[in-house]
Amino acid sequence: MCLKRPEIPDERYGRCESCAKNGRIAFRFRLAPGRGSGPLVVRAGELSPRALRQKWREPIAAYAAPPASRSHLGLHELELVTARDRLESIRVAPDLATRADEAMAALRAASERTEAAW
Ligand SMILES: [Zn+2]
Repeated sequence: MCLKRPEIPDERYGRCESCAKNGRIAFRFRLAPGRGSGPLVVRAGELSPRALRQKWREPIAAYAAPPASRSHLGLHELELVTARDRLESIRVAPDLATRADEAMAALRAASERTEAAW
């Protein structure tokens, strides 16, 4: 996740020892243009909209830094890096680097949703 080595065998996220010790978990979301080529919206994610809202709505709203671009992310992917109850960082795929504000707006809108599934 921090892409450091060594990884721990059988670790779900392939985390290094430091990440595992700090309880660092990354959740990925996939964005896509809204209806009629509208602004980006979250289409899928490793957390349900409801879980995202319950735990991360406020930290996402308070997150002011521009998201970093990371090449390990696939097309239209966004990653929320958390450490226990803290939101550490938000990263986006290179293709979203020039649309970072739009990606953040999509994430904020997603964190207001209350559905159980995307
Ligand atoms: Zn690490």
